[in-house]
Amino acid sequence: MDNVRPEIVFIQNDAIERLPEIVSRYGKGLVVTDSIIFKRYGERLAKTCDSDPTWVLVDKGIPNDLQVEGIDVIVGFGGGRSIDAAKLIAAQTKLDWISVPTAASHDGIASEAASVAHNGYRYSKRCKLPVAVVADLSIISDAPVELKQAGTGDILCKASSLSEWKFAHERYEEPFVQEAYNLVRRALDQVIRDDRLETLVRAEIDAGRAMYLAQSSRPCSGTEHAISHAMERRNHALHGLQVIFATPLCLHYLEARGQALYSRDFMTEVISERGLPRMLEDLDLTLEMFVDDIHHALKIMQRRNRHSILADVEDEELRRVILDLYT
Ligand SMILES: [Zn+2]
Repeated sequence: MDNVRPEIVFIQNDAIERLPEIVSRYGKGLVVTDSIIFKRYGERLAKTCDSDPTWVLVDKGIPNDLQVEGIDVIVGFGGGRSIDAAKLIAAQTKLDWISVPTAASHDGIASEAASVAHNGYRYSKRCKLPVAVVADLSIISDAPVELKQAGTGDILCKASSLSEWKFAHERYEEPFVQEAYNLVRRALDQVIRDDRLETLVRAEIDAGRAMYLAQSSRPCSGTEHAISHAMERRNHALHGLQVIFATPLCLHYLEARGQALYSRDFMTEVISERGLPRMLEDLDLTLEMFVDDIHHALKIMQRRNRHSILADVEDEELRRVILDLYT
């Protein structure tokens, strides 16, 4: 397990002070960021570096004329967009990359998958794991509270994805990797017990490792994720808020089959305690919109050859359970 990247992980206040030293182990760095982060931290970072780092701003996407001559390592510094751009540039150039997240809003901060927009749809492109993660808690704790909540949701929802994965493996012979399961299970348990930012960041890094070990997003992504992808067609809530919203519904049916890692009621309580969305109105949804999202999600699951715990549920019964759980 120890040989799985990232090899270097710093999660602490003022961690970016360590960044120049880490970058210099690899050579010259190209820092991929957006103009807001550049304005806020560019000077501070330049001061701690022996030589000025090269910056590329990806507010409008990766520039076509990007120059990487003389560059040895890519640094993704910022939110999801900058991290994704760094992953893609690293994949294109075959260079290693370092993750410097400024928010803990999802489990992609140290994963190999980059989210790519194409013709209005988002799909996931497999790149590679970062060699290092530098998570500066003083920066991440400055991010809007909703981003931490979304990150928490993206870990807590593993109660559903892990349970469904194990069930789909035992019942339908979906590929299963015990080590990946254990890693996500531990991350989930820790975030249930402990609301600290440091715990959340560690859990997100481990989720990235688990998806690498499984060579699939399946440990971290079940029907609750497919529902979120369906919601994205018209709902703009953060990913982590959508996936945790769909979690009690999946747990309801997993529990009925004796397959839930945590009970529906227990997770609903945790969701309420953490101030995460629970009711249809919290995500501006109607019953019919949610049911339509579920129908669409089932098609996504089928297309990916993944068994959904909601696959055989009748519509009338589904509506009844939703009204019971979400209103
Ligand atoms: Zn997710």
